[in-house]
Amino acid sequence: MQNRECKMDKKTLEKYRKKLMKAREELIKKIIADYDSSKASEREIAQDIGDQALDTYSKEFLYSLSDSDRKQLLMINEALNRIKECNYGFCMRCGKKIASKRLDVIPWAEYCIDCQEKLEEGE
Ligand SMILES: [Zn+2]
Repeated sequence: MQNRECKMDKKTLEKYRKKLMKAREELIKKIIADYDSSKASEREIAQDIGDQALDTYSKEFLYSLSDSDRKQLLMINEALNRIKECNYGFCMRCGKKIASKRLDVIPWAEYCIDCQEKLEEGE
């Protein structure tokens, strides 16, 4: 996997990586605050979320989340994976660069604005 050239420069990637990590941290805090404490301790949840790859989350944990929290957590993780794989910042539908203005607001965006609109229209 080494020597693979990233499409986006390292500095920019690092900026978005930090944004994503922060967004994930905040989401986790919110999840912990909402979580039914009779089911698991905070530490267990934090361990469950940790810095793990998406597919290693326990199903129980994922099912315990609300749909929107789960969706966002998965999107953040996928964006972090794309940073690792050096294809972050490009639309997953058309392959074009996603505008940095859009990534600044939604760092986990998967599609460019055009594709997002088309997808929302159900095209
Ligand atoms: Zn697109």
